[in-house]
Order: sequence, then C-alpha cells, then structure tokens
Amino acid sequence: MIKTVASLRLISGAGAKGPACFLVEADGRRLMLDLGEGPPPGLLPAVDGIGPIDAVVLSHGHTDHVGGLSLLPKLGYPPVYATEIVARGLPKGISVRLLPIGGRGEVLGIAVDTGRNGHAPGGIWLHFAIGDGLLYTGDISAESPLYAYDPPAKSAATALIDCSYGSYQKPIAECWSALVPIMERGALLLPVPANGRGPEIALETLRYGRTDIYVDDAMHAALRRLSSSDGVSLRNGVDDDIKGLAVAAKPINGARGVMLAASADGTSGATEKLLGQWEQTKEPAIVFTGYRAPGTPADRLIKSGRAQFLRWNVHPLLSDIVALLRTVQAKTVIPAFCDRVQLAGLTDALAPARVTMDGPVAL
Ligand SMILES: [Zn+2]
Repeated sequence: MIKTVASLRLISGAGAKGPACFLVEADGRRLMLDLGEGPPPGLLPAVDGIGPIDAVVLSHGHTDHVGGLSLLPKLGYPPVYATEIVARGLPKGISVRLLPIGGRGEVLGIAVDTGRNGHAPGGIWLHFAIGDGLLYTGDISAESPLYAYDPPAKSAATALIDCSYGSYQKPIAECWSALVPIMERGALLLPVPANGRGPEIALETLRYGRTDIYVDDAMHAALRRLSSSDGVSLRNGVDDDIKGLAVAAKPINGARGVMLAASADGTSGATEKLLGQWEQTKEPAIVFTGYRAPGTPADRLIKSGRAQFLRWNVHPLLSDIVALLRTVQAKTVIPAFCDRVQLAGLTDALAPARVTMDGPVAL
C-alpha cells in the first residue's frame, strides 16, 4: 500500500452526467482513470492545465470511457492500460499495456486487482493499493443475463462507484416484462449499443422463444466476438445460446420481427439510416432503452411520440450499490455518472459512509 500523500481529482463524471475522467495522484505518480467522450456526443473532459500524466487506465471500451483518447497529446502521450479485449477496439498507434480481466496486475508499480464488470466485453472494475484501498468500478451491473460480474470483495476506504441510476431500484426482469407486450404487437426496432445491452436483449429474446431476430452488421460482429474471442466476459452457461444467436440472427431487411441495431441513440450506424426511413411511418414500433442525450435522434423521436423509452438496466440498482459498499467497507463514496440532484438520496442510503461529489478527495 502506498501511504504517502495521495488524492483523487474528479475531472469529469461526478456531479453531472458526462464523460468519465478522474485523476489519481499518488507518491508522485499521476494516473488518469478513463478518458471518455460524451454524453452528449462531442463533449470532452477539460484537461487543459492538467499537465503530463504517467498512465491512463481504462475500465471498458464504451465511448464515454475511452472516446477522449484524442486528448493524449495534451497529456504527454502516456501509456494506456486496458484489457486485451478493450485494447483491440482502441485507435491504432496507442501504446497499450495489458491489464488482466480478473486477478492481480500493476500500473506503474502500483498493485491493482481487477474483476469482470457485468457490463461490457472486456470491461473491468479496478482496486488500487493506494491509501487504504481505492475502488473504481467504471460501469458495473450485477444483473446482466449475459456478462459475468465478479463482485469486488477487497476492502477499499474510498469507492468511486457507478451510480448512473441514482436511487433507482426496478429489477431487470421488470424491464423485460415491459418490453414483451410491445414485441408481441408487431415489428420492433431496438436501437442498442452492440457492445453492451444489444446482445443481452437479443439473448433474452431468443430465450423467450423468438426466432425472428434481425441484427445490423455491428450487432452481428459483436455476437461473433462473444462466441469466440470475447467469451471470457460471458456468464457461465450462455455460450451455446450466444453461438446459436450468432448463426441464427438474420440481417435487417424491412420492418419485421425483433430488430436490434446500433447506434443506441441513432446518431450513427444502421439506426441513423433506419430511423430516417421509419420516422414518418407507423411501423415498426421503436423503443430506446438507454440514456438519451439532448439533441440526438433518440431524444427527438421520443419527444415527438414516434418512439418509446423503456430502460434496460446496465448499471447497478441502489440495493446492489449498498451491498457492494458494505462488502468493501468504504468510508468515502464518490457516486459517479449521475446528477447532483441524486446526492441527498444517496447520502441517506449509503450512510454511514461519507458521500461526496466534490474533489479533491484525500486517499
Ligand atoms: Zn459503459
């Protein structure tokens, strides 16, 4: 454990929804935890004036955690630490050092334990041997039917934790129950991230007995990777279903069946085209299931009444957060990725831990 002066600065991602970017300074070493872009698309963390850093450590490959790597020149081109699966998706030319998807690794000589985050292929939480332990969850989910979650167990005096849903407490089974009647009514388009809840919803749809599942190229590629190179991120017992899905899912061709396509907010990929085609028609039904940033096609279609919003959980319920914090015995909690309006509710729910959205936090 590094016992010298250490601190955590909340550059972006605490107090408001925004790109993930946190800075740990310990024993003269400067580590950045994630370097995201958006939401909304295009929003980057303010890193001017931060100066050179020694390493960027990535939790998983979603844009709001890795999309800011274009800022590396401003940070002195530090090496980037990531799991092999996440590293594969990064822009070419970045100097990557590998982290284990589970177990013990090191960053600049600091011991780090990792485990699967139940949220995305190759995604991990990280526990650093700094101060009396620092846990950074990145995005986690204890409920995924698809991605494996290894709950952090090591004690951490400070926990920077995914609180994207604030005090929300509706289990994922209820998300599925709300989706089924819409699916039964006729053709349905679900704009999804291919490396997140897309394959989860496809798996549940297959298990429900539907065989008319249609996907775009991005979803197809994600399913193929999950049935091969990304398989280490899967829960036990889902391999066969995912392999079946990778073979059985057909390309989207007209409004029929259950269609899953990226991107989740319609700003790019197949859904950008499909939403353009179907915005003025009655069929298919369109359901968005994730965070919608202002100004995106998702936001526009929901506001106009053409599309519906039904959340599909990919972040922890309040009860999962409480259980996690009890296990790691956190004394200071920084709720990440939610708005400051959640602070009072989370402070009550997470007592006796000190809950703050303001840095710097001493470690
Ligand atoms: Zn994520």
